[in-house]
Amino acid sequence: MINPISAQLLMPLSTDGNLANLFTALEGVAPSLRSMCADFAPSYGVVCNAMHLHLNRRGDRKPAKMVISLTLVKLDETRLMAVLGDVSLQVKRDRELKQSDAWLNAILTGVEDYAMVSLDPLGRIESWNESIGRLTGFAAEALVGQPYSIFYPPDSTTPEHLLDRLREADENGWSLDEGLRMRADGSHFWGNSMISPLRDGEDRSRDPAFCDPESREPAYGLIIRDISDKREASEQQRKAAYCDYLTGLANRRAFFEAAELELARRKRSPRSTAMIMFDADHFKAINDTFGHPAGDAVLRHLAQSLKATFRDVDVVARVGGEEFAVLLPSTDLAAAALVANRLRALVEATPVLVEGELIGFTVSAGVAAMDDAISGLDGLIKRADQALYAAKARGRNRVDCWSPECPTYKDHLPGGINAS
Ligand code: GH3
Ligand code: MG
Ligand code: MG
Repeated sequence: MINPISAQLLMPLSTDGNLANLFTALEGVAPSLRSMCADFAPSYGVVCNAMHLHLNRRGDRKPAKMVISLTLVKLDETRLMAVLGDVSLQVKRDRELKQSDAWLNAILTGVEDYAMVSLDPLGRIESWNESIGRLTGFAAEALVGQPYSIFYPPDSTTPEHLLDRLREADENGWSLDEGLRMRADGSHFWGNSMISPLRDGEDRSRDPAFCDPESREPAYGLIIRDISDKREASEQQRKAAYCDYLTGLANRRAFFEAAELELARRKRSPRSTAMIMFDADHFKAINDTFGHPAGDAVLRHLAQSLKATFRDVDVVARVGGEEFAVLLPSTDLAAAALVANRLRALVEATPVLVEGELIGFTVSAGVAAMDDAISGLDGLIKRADQALYAAKARGRNRVDCWSPECPTYKDHLPGGINAS
């Protein structure tokens, strides 16, 4: 007995339109079926379950592949029941899925600088891609159940921060951050981490898997990428844009940006801020006597002395040929004058040895501090310049602080700096 749907499915196998015997009809695609039934000893039971039979669909101009699923049940010694279904589409989709899985896998294992893991709803590692070993040095098996913070240096993140990132991924569809990452051996690399939810568009707050802290359902994909090279390149660009090529100090641009930032901070939480302007004395004479390259060496030496004298928090920059500016956060006028004088004395006491010749030189400095009468950076620079001019006018190799009596700078010292 055969129902119409089964008859339709099996029709491609029939040569004469006769489907009286199932074994005969399936002989071409499942030759072992007859013997499987004969060998099935129990008096009833499942002989074969969802066996896939691949047939060519006839009648089409180009014969198409068709996959039929066959389940054969022995009902008793005399009766068999066959259940047939067309699973062509399902098989096609399975194959496509497998292909895209293999494709993704090939990409992820083939590229050197990516690693991928899947995370459960609480950010614990659920499964991994082979590339994880190559990038991080972790044995993949050792990662299961660990929070993904295992890839971050200790103290660089908190459990709350890790969960925040998962929430961010839920809300935006992804969450990306960049920073130091850690390998199994404790060494660091610069990387970025992209987290994306694996189940799109679901409201996770109502997701039972999310609410169950023991759930091991993969919920997020995490891709870590080693971008050390990229960072190095951008670090070099940054250096080129913000460093003075001769001395390695901050350049004018860096100075103005840092100073503006500091003054903005000062506006939010008022505190004293001072500035010192240094200028090498009679530098033209040094060049004329010892040559320009020797002058360069002297400037480099002066930069070293400045670096050694000021704190890391101070912004020390070369803002002109032989002119240097220092911004001192949280420092008042008197304290700035003191340290400026220390630098002046150090320079005076340490001549520079250039190609066997000792070159002695001195610097003058002008010191100013921010107060309510000055509106911004321009005003502060102007005062420091006026004080510097005073120091020059009063004999050089000295430090002067700004006072309303200071002579006006602009008439006397061309080439001074301004913030524009
Ligand atoms: P003062 O005490 O009044 O500052 O005198 P000065 O000679 O230092 O001042 P002036 O502004 O007349 O000359 C500055 C000199 O600094 C002239 C210039 O050749 C020199 N200079 C500027 N930049 C560099 C540099 O990068 N390398 C060298 N070697 N010299 C430089
Ligand atoms: Mg000068
Ligand atoms: Mg000078």
